[in-house]
Amino acid sequence: MKFIQYKTISGIIQCVSGLRIGGSKDTIEIGGMDNPIIRNPLDKFPYIPGSSLKGKMRSLLEWEIDGKLGKDGNAHQFKDCNKDDKCPICRIFGVTDDEVRFGPGRAIFRDGYVTNDSKEKLRELQLKKGLLYVEEKTETAIDRLKGKAKDGSLRQYERVPAGTEFSFYIDYRVFDINDNGQTDIDNFQWLLHGLWLLQQDALGSSGSRGYGQIKFGIHVKDTEKPDKVKFIPDKVLVEGKEEQIKDRYEEITQQKKR
Ligand SMILES: [Zn+2]
Repeated sequence: MKFIQYKTISGIIQCVSGLRIGGSKDTIEIGGMDNPIIRNPLDKFPYIPGSSLKGKMRSLLEWEIDGKLGKDGNAHQFKDCNKDDKCPICRIFGVTDDEVRFGPGRAIFRDGYVTNDSKEKLRELQLKKGLLYVEEKTETAIDRLKGKAKDGSLRQYERVPAGTEFSFYIDYRVFDINDNGQTDIDNFQWLLHGLWLLQQDALGSSGSRGYGQIKFGIHVKDTEKPDKVKFIPDKVLVEGKEEQIKDRYEEITQQKKR
């Protein structure tokens, strides 16, 4: 087994409708929202966890590719595909089975962050309406006999507003396992197909009620492995400025001593 190259899918996820990926209630203050979304704790902007993209795309592809549905409703496992070494699900998303000889899951789903343009728009929303980078959507249940909202059924949900854009990356690793990487290159098409499926379906919760419709704009780039080690990581970007890692290292160790 030998690593050959990365194939990188990069691009934009645009929210066509409000997106809701639930966050933790542990951090809510008194009078806070019942149903918060997930946010970066440092800047409070929403983000799309790579795990959400990965989980949803995996389940859509298990529906799509013949014979990949687990018998018990659980995620597809290596034994479900008769230990097929070329299985796109097992290869792309990875398996925990000890017997696997084809290496790690090929796709790395990065977290998606709000683009700078969208950050501006969300800041405006905060200034004008006092909403912290989200919309607050109220929903209710209908009493079937009275034909109106059921008493006490009002619920509030946070959503990322429609129109918001996130950057996203998926890095895909191609390994040569006596096949010049052909199996991984063939399976890469399934990953692209997964993006299409996700566009037809929904991301996050309440997809059947209109939430989480998204659109992808993508670019695919191949990164060949350099012949020799060319990348020497001696510099780091700090707030857009290049600094020597050595200086940063000393600064950080000094802080620890204090
Ligand atoms: Zn499989």
